[in-house]
This record gives sequence, C-alpha cells and structure tokens, in this order.
Amino acid sequence: MDETNQNQTEAQTKLNPFEMALKNFELAADLLGLDTEIRNQIRLPERELTVHFPVKMRDGKFKVFTGYRVQHSTARGPAKGGIRYHPDVTLDEVKALASWMTYKCATVNIPYGGAKGGVICNPKELNDFELEHMTRRYTSEISCIIGPTKDIPAPDVYTNAQTMAWMMDTYSMARGEYCPGVVTGKPLAIGGSKGRNEATARGCVFVIAEAAKHLQIPLKGARVAIQGFGNAGAISAQLIHDNYDAKVIAVSDSRGAVFCENGFDPHRAIEHKQRTGSVVGLAGTETIPGDAILTLDCDILIPAALENVITPCVANSVKAKIVAEAANGPTVPDADTVLDQKGVFVLPDILANAGGVTVSYFEWVQNNSGLYWTEDEVNARLKQIIVTAFEEVLLASQKYKVNMRRAAWARALDRVAEALKVRGIYP
Ligand code: NAD
Repeated sequence: MDETNQNQTEAQTKLNPFEMALKNFELAADLLGLDTEIRNQIRLPERELTVHFPVKMRDGKFKVFTGYRVQHSTARGPAKGGIRYHPDVTLDEVKALASWMTYKCATVNIPYGGAKGGVICNPKELNDFELEHMTRRYTSEISCIIGPTKDIPAPDVYTNAQTMAWMMDTYSMARGEYCPGVVTGKPLAIGGSKGRNEATARGCVFVIAEAAKHLQIPLKGARVAIQGFGNAGAISAQLIHDNYDAKVIAVSDSRGAVFCENGFDPHRAIEHKQRTGSVVGLAGTETIPGDAILTLDCDILIPAALENVITPCVANSVKAKIVAEAANGPTVPDADTVLDQKGVFVLPDILANAGGVTVSYFEWVQNNSGLYWTEDEVNARLKQIIVTAFEEVLLASQKYKVNMRRAAWARALDRVAEALKVRGIYP
C-alpha cells in the first residue's frame, strides 16, 4: 500500500467515538440474533443532559462552561460512570463512554447500567478555587438526575478523589443528609474504598494472568511494554513485575518512551517520574519514539493511555502475543481484524479495565451498608469477579468462534437485553 492510500485508510479508521461503540454493538447484536425492537431500545442512550452554567473565576469575572451527563442504560441497575474534564469533551464522546460503561458493568456482572459525564474545560488552566467552584456548580446542575440509586459518578480523565469529595459534599449539603453513595472514587476519609486506587491495574493484571495461563505463556520473564504511565499503566507495571516476575522492558508517557532490553524495576520509573515529571531519562534505559512502544518485540502490550492508538497500520506491526487494553478504546475496530489474523490475543477494554468500576461498586456497597472491608477482602472479591468474567468471555468466544472483544460485547449485551425483556415496557 502506498503512503497516500495508507493515510486515507488510517483517516477512515478515525471514527466518531459513538460510531465506534455502535459498530461493536451491532456486531454483538448480530452474533446474538437480537431482534430489532430490543436493538432499538438499547442502541441509544436513555437520557442526555447538556448544561451551560456560569462560574465565578478567581479574578471576579464569570465564565460559562458546558457540561454533559449521559445515562446510556439503567436496565440492570443505577447508571454508573466517570466525569471527564477536558477541552475536547464532546457529547458524542460522552455518549460513547456511557455505552461502554453499560457493557463493562454487564461484562463483570455488577448491578449497574452505564453513564458518563464531562465538562469542556482545560483543568490545567484552572486553579483549585476555580476547579472547586466549577465542580460544585456542575454537580448542582446535574443533581436532578444523579443520586445513590439513580446515577453514581466517579473520576475519569483529569478528575480525582478531591473532585469526588466536592461532588459528594455539594450533593449532601443540598439534600441536608450525608450521601457518600452518590459518587465513588472518594478519599478514604469520607467513605472511599481501600484498594480503589490500584483496582484498574489489579484487574488488568488478573486478566493477563488468566490469558497467559490459557495460552500457556509463562509470565515469569515475559516481556511487557506499557503505553501510559499514570494510574492504570504505572500500577500495572508494578503489579506484573512484583507479583508475577514479568520483565517490564518499556514504558511511555506523553513526553516519550524508555526501553531496556533486560528490563528494569518499574518502582524506579515511578520514582523518576515523580521527581522529573516523565519516565524519559530513566537511568539504564534508552529513549525511543513514543509510538514505537506499540510495536516493540514483547510478549504483552498494555495500552494504558489514549483512545484509537492501535490503527490497522500499527496492528500490522504489533509483535505482542497478548494486548491488554487498560485504556478505554485503544484499538480501532478495523485493527481488530488485523490483530485476529496475526493471532494476537486481545483482552478488550470492557473486560481488561473493569477492575476500577468493580471496586467502585464495592465502595458503593460499603457506603450503603456502613460496613467497611479490609484491603485483602477487596482484592479477593475483585479477583473472583474478574476471573469469572474472563472465564465467561473465553467460553463465549469458543462457543461463537469469535475474538474476545466480540465475545465480551455479546455476553454483556445478552445480559442487558435479558434485563430489558423481563422488565417490559412502562407504562
Ligand atoms: P492517568 O491520567 O493517570 O495516566 C495517563 C497516562 O497516559 C499519563 O502517564 C500520561 O502521560 C500518558 N499519556 C498521555 N498521552 C500520551 C501519549 N501520547 N503517549 C503515551 N502516554 C501518554 O490516566 P489513567 O487513569 O491511568 O487512565 C488511562 C486510561 O485508562 C484511560 O483510557 C482511562 O479511560 C482508562 N481507565 C482508567 C481507569 C482508572 O480507574 N484509572 C479505569 C478504567 C479505564
């Protein structure tokens, strides 16, 4: 393929995120032979709220922000999903992420639907005063549809435990009662769960271990490359190195990638990033171009940063035997075909990064019961849920003779469709 054609093909693969989610949805619906009425009921979000609201800035002036909260499905339980602060937030992105949450919760069989929220803003340009005021006003704007039994937000890109604390406080003060269960991912001091911070990475490493067992790839000494060195990526590096003796040979962040043929201790990389702001420059490693990490000669590749990074062209050069999607949507749909042809075993995002929402569910259960668990209890329950989900998806992939992504979507969609069927139509 010449370069022009290749660029065109790459451009075509850059789908609108909601179209990308719909593509996976239709493939799964076809596999299940889902009838048109149920398809139409599930395809689009139940509710899309757009809010425009003023915030008083530090200089005394007002600025108007736009935010969204989309509830894709409440068929299996209250809607659940994070809040993103980013200049590129769009309604279609939020719709896509909300639908992903529906299928992620159904994949691991926790009793939630799916939702997502976002505010168009550049949090790097806002100080803490402005972030707090924006968060509180946004919470107030969406409080008509959120609540512990309705829709439970959590952190996502550029929001964190502090953001959740402001949301929980705003909601509780307006209600005149203590409502810890309105959000998850809170600080421990106000009802956060032990193990939540590591949960996404822990779940990801649990599914990698199951996949490696299934494929008979020994994890001890397995070569691991990780794109993104934040919550999901850095903790995955730590856990796979410490608990399975795997060899982390390359990691990257937004400033570049580092590589060492013999592997390195990810704890050193974490310390280096904390000190310098990047993994680049880590002693004993060589710097390589950021994108090169995806096509390195390794056994396990963990994309843990961005969407749409594994295009068909990149997929052609992927050498890993297992790709574990810690990030949401790192593989564009057409690249799946290429990875399948090459025999790469892909652990799809709705399974591989479901550890985070699973421990969010544990946090909500603890908030609702008032009884708090030890970290060992949290991790043991997480393992049980994630390993069961892996086994179910693997069985479905064998039954339907499809890849793990299609199998996970089909398994999840089947659960959502079943809930809708038994509930029937109101009124
Ligand atoms: P984070 O902000 O903690 O870390 C993101 C990392 O990606 C940072 O190290 C950043 O430098 C790096 N990055 C940004 N641009 C990059 C680039 N071009 N190349 C390489 N690295 C780049 O975010 P996170 O919470 O770790 O989330 C990462 C992904 O995992 C996202 O897709 C997110 O939706 C997904 N995810 C996270 C959780 C969670 O609980 N944290 C749960 C489910 C899914």
